[in-house]
Amino acid sequence: MLYGALEAGGTKMICAIGNEYGQILEQTTIPTTTPDETMPQVLDFFKDKELDAVGVACFGPVDVRKSSSTYGNILNTPKIAWRNFPMLKTIKTGLNNIPVGFDTDVNGAILAEVTWGAAKNLTDAVYFTIGTGIGMGVISGGNLLHGMLHPEIGHIKMSVVHNDDFAGVCPSHGTCFEGMASGPAIEKRWGKSAKDLNENNDVWELEADYIAQALTTVIYALSPQKIILGGGVMHQKQLFPLIREKVLEDINNYIDTKELRNIANYIVPASLNDKQGVMGALKLAEMATEE
Ligand code: ADP
Ligand code: ZN
Repeated sequence: MLYGALEAGGTKMICAIGNEYGQILEQTTIPTTTPDETMPQVLDFFKDKELDAVGVACFGPVDVRKSSSTYGNILNTPKIAWRNFPMLKTIKTGLNNIPVGFDTDVNGAILAEVTWGAAKNLTDAVYFTIGTGIGMGVISGGNLLHGMLHPEIGHIKMSVVHNDDFAGVCPSHGTCFEGMASGPAIEKRWGKSAKDLNENNDVWELEADYIAQALTTVIYALSPQKIILGGGVMHQKQLFPLIREKVLEDINNYIDTKELRNIANYIVPASLNDKQGVMGALKLAEMATEE
């Protein structure tokens, strides 16, 4: 089978052609500017390739409720030009109504990780992206979790760490998880881009505190068998041991499982070389042909 994959991001659209084995045969990147400018280029890439289906893993918030009249639309994004844009419909009508699978970017990533990556064969696993924004994709009982809309882990309330008086950067909540721990939050707090702060231990101690709080909440609420951390900020590998240690401190032996006893294998980096989004979109395409 030949599938199209679109990882639709707020800054770039990664378009690829691949197959059911997750192999990417061809790929291109198109800047995300306005729908009028960007989408014709995206459609041009997929056109005339005799695809069996296309999968879209899309930035949010996005309507992933199949029964909804606005299924496949981007919702209330700060990127004004894309607000209410019918992403799924545009792809489907632009490509002669071929099957199109559609989900959030992070659900795409966790789908790729359970199919080919660090969470292979698990039924319950989560993928976090910690980058410009913070999001989480969830496989629960073997299925992608949507629920009422989709999880919005980036906006959970944080307990502010002692003596931390940073006001946060979330326009809606100030000091929520994303407001305190996203890439832009690090930059605002410390006055430098996160990637130029790797020598400063205080930055990563505090960052790990907030990430560990969120992970502990997710461990209690969803009971995942594996937690995968991706996104630009997680390129700071020194975060991993700090986060693991703080999660164990937060849990304080309240849960005792083989996973937590081997925490280095429980809280792990994304495993697919930053291809998890586009590979997840391939899997979404395959799932669309089975429906
Ligand atoms: P996006 O979330 O926009 O899709 P990324 O996941 O790459 O893209 O996240 C971008 C954010 O991650 C920026 O705020 C940037 O400062 C931060 N970032 C990117 N690379 C690194 C790095 N090596 N170390 C720390 N932060 C990084
Ligand atoms: Zn928020």
